[in-house]
Amino acid sequence: MDSELKTILCVFAFGLGASIASFLNVVAWRVPRGESIVRPPSHCPKCNAPIRWWQNIPILSWLALRGKCASCRAPISPRYIIVETIGGLLFLAVAWKFLPVVSAVVLLWIWVSLMLVGSVIDFDHKLLPDFVTVGGMVLGLVYAVAKSAVNMVYGAGLAGCMPLFWSVSGLVFGFGLLMFIRTVGTKAFKREAMGMGDVFLMGAVGALFGPVAVLFTLIVSSVLGSVAGLSLVALAKTKFGRFLEIPYGPYICGACLVWIFFGPEIVNWYLSVMGL
Ligand SMILES: [Zn+2]
Repeated sequence: MDSELKTILCVFAFGLGASIASFLNVVAWRVPRGESIVRPPSHCPKCNAPIRWWQNIPILSWLALRGKCASCRAPISPRYIIVETIGGLLFLAVAWKFLPVVSAVVLLWIWVSLMLVGSVIDFDHKLLPDFVTVGGMVLGLVYAVAKSAVNMVYGAGLAGCMPLFWSVSGLVFGFGLLMFIRTVGTKAFKREAMGMGDVFLMGAVGALFGPVAVLFTLIVSSVLGSVAGLSLVALAKTKFGRFLEIPYGPYICGACLVWIFFGPEIVNWYLSVMGL
């Protein structure tokens, strides 16, 4: 792909990602509270002043208003600009790595959006909504069915069904493995070791990326969680320490991102180091 065109598309991807993340902020706030995501239109929670379109431009408006409401100067959480920036960077990174394979870019844009909103909700409410976890499973299966169908049309025969086989076995493996860990952990610690949301989330990782990705994500998320846990002990009394005290869902999402961008390379590197 022409590199100038690719640069333009990546800039567009950043803007699109930041705008979608801006909407996901609204979803993450309203859906767990049982509110509609379209009505009422955005307003300041303190003074109820409506937020005009030019005050609602991702990243830029927050900077221009210096994180304060334009009418009453009440502070607006930095989370808005943080989530918007992460959304923009994720969309850009997906476009950069996977263009010109448009189907992969669209699939991953949807999945990183679901992981982003799921992580924010898990962070606030210690739960992962079904539209993220079950949505991810359906997304992975639908993509695998479509890909297998295209392979069959092009005469690949039964071997063309590999994506579907990979997706179903990933789903079963991811769901089964975490269900097993949850059951054993709950018995061992005599309290709920992890939520069902985490089990469903790993099922989604499997449906989207297959069984190898499940194993990779489990290992990397445990490492991320342990590092955060040890840092937490060290920083227990500081503000930063409390920030690390997050549920398991965002760690699974973080590990899944590592898989998306570097996973196969890391696995190949590991196999070559082991002389395999
Ligand atoms: Zn206000």
